[in-house]
Amino acid sequence: MDSTDSSIDLAEQLAACVRTLAEAGYCPATGGNFSIRVDADSLWMTASGVDKRRLTTSDLIRMGVDGQARGYGKPSAETALHLWLYQHRPDTGCVLHVHSRANTVVSRCAGRGVRFQGYEMQKAVRGQPDHESPLTLPIVENSQKMADICRELESIRANKLPFGFLVRGHGLYAWGQDLAEARRHLEGWEFLLECHLAELSLAGNGSEKDL
Ligand SMILES: [Zn+2]
Repeated sequence: MDSTDSSIDLAEQLAACVRTLAEAGYCPATGGNFSIRVDADSLWMTASGVDKRRLTTSDLIRMGVDGQARGYGKPSAETALHLWLYQHRPDTGCVLHVHSRANTVVSRCAGRGVRFQGYEMQKAVRGQPDHESPLTLPIVENSQKMADICRELESIRANKLPFGFLVRGHGLYAWGQDLAEARRHLEGWEFLLECHLAELSLAGNGSEKDL
């Protein structure tokens, strides 16, 4: 742990948020990983393989935005995706990644993105003016090599990513300028994905009408 009050406060805020998300069922089997920016050059990152319902600040690792560890412990295997966002979206203050049933199933049933239109909840995403304007959540292919996923993100262009993307058959990444906004984006995307999953189920098949 770093010793400054503000960095400890951020670590405690992140740990409390993660525990709440895990209790809500977003992080089964130690899944998910989470980070928060401390200053221009560093962040807290969750350690690998921790039960998120019991996560404490001692399970957070201080790292440089450049990927250099500044503390002890093994950071999440998906740390590279968090770093990519901090490096390519300078307004990023917090990144939340969860494995839910809805985000996993929908990501397997869609093409290169899931298109939402007509949902009031779309306005949870920063910049979305109303429910009528279409909003597409991109999907990238899953890989155990984070460099492969980063390469796909490069092809979408960072400034086109709507504070979220899906990794197929895997999970959702959501982020924001701070923890509150990142959590709002995560909850908004998850709500939309649950609605989409329900619509697919009502239609009686997994075929996708989108991209
Ligand atoms: Zn994951």
